[in-house]
Amino acid sequence: MPELPEVELAARSLRRWAGDRTLVAVEAEPTRVLRPAGPAALRPLVGARLGEVRRIGKNLLLGFEGARGPVGAWSHLGMTGKWLRRAPGEPPPRHSRLRLRLDDGATLHYVDQRLFGRFRMVPHARFDEVPELAALGPDPLEQGIDGRRLADMLARTSRPVKVALLDQALLPGVGNIYACEALFRARIDPRRPARSLARAEVDRLARAVLASMRASLRQLEQRRGDVTYVEEGAPNPFAVYDRAGERCPRCGRAKIERVALGGRGTFFCPRCPR
Ligand SMILES: [Zn+2]
Repeated sequence: MPELPEVELAARSLRRWAGDRTLVAVEAEPTRVLRPAGPAALRPLVGARLGEVRRIGKNLLLGFEGARGPVGAWSHLGMTGKWLRRAPGEPPPRHSRLRLRLDDGATLHYVDQRLFGRFRMVPHARFDEVPELAALGPDPLEQGIDGRRLADMLARTSRPVKVALLDQALLPGVGNIYACEALFRARIDPRRPARSLARAEVDRLARAVLASMRASLRQLEQRRGDVTYVEEGAPNPFAVYDRAGERCPRCGRAKIERVALGGRGTFFCPRCPR
């Protein structure tokens, strides 16, 4: 599932492929990705030129200059969404739900097998009026992590720290994978109540979140191409995520355990937290 690093790679790819390019045509299937609108709502994009591509957490904010002023689009990759580029004449990828045809002949496909993603027009590119973006905290990669703010927010809840971390008001873009990886890296037991963390542990966690994401981003950049994030069947690049029963890569003694926290699989070393 795409989390911050994967969406950041999508943002960089979209800038590289389509920055300053004009859309000559826009096509979409009438899927729930476009909800509550349908393909006809995308018409203002035809003839528009892509300017800024921003990312906040797992959200992509596309700013276009249209014939009648600014036009925006909000893209969320959901569980299986990704953006792919196809050169003129290349066959379309499977599960293409939305196509942006560019003035250089290339086509950008929004591909989404399971259709949990979103693509919605934002009138006048007023992204601050998008309800789904209103509750997001500052983006950790763009703005850094304010340790005091994070400590204050964690102190307000007795939920397990792993569950608390998934709240996009804290560190938007952190999902199940990076919550597990960062807690492992920071040597914090994911089951601990969030409010039990000492300030030094919160700071360690903040550094671990950034380090985990930056490491993944570097890996993703290296094997750029069609694959914009880890897909089923690909080798697992993570330290603990989805490694239940394997030996801990740090202590080498305990085996990685899996428990469900807040209904989500949580992977950790029972020995490493200190
Ligand atoms: Zn260990």
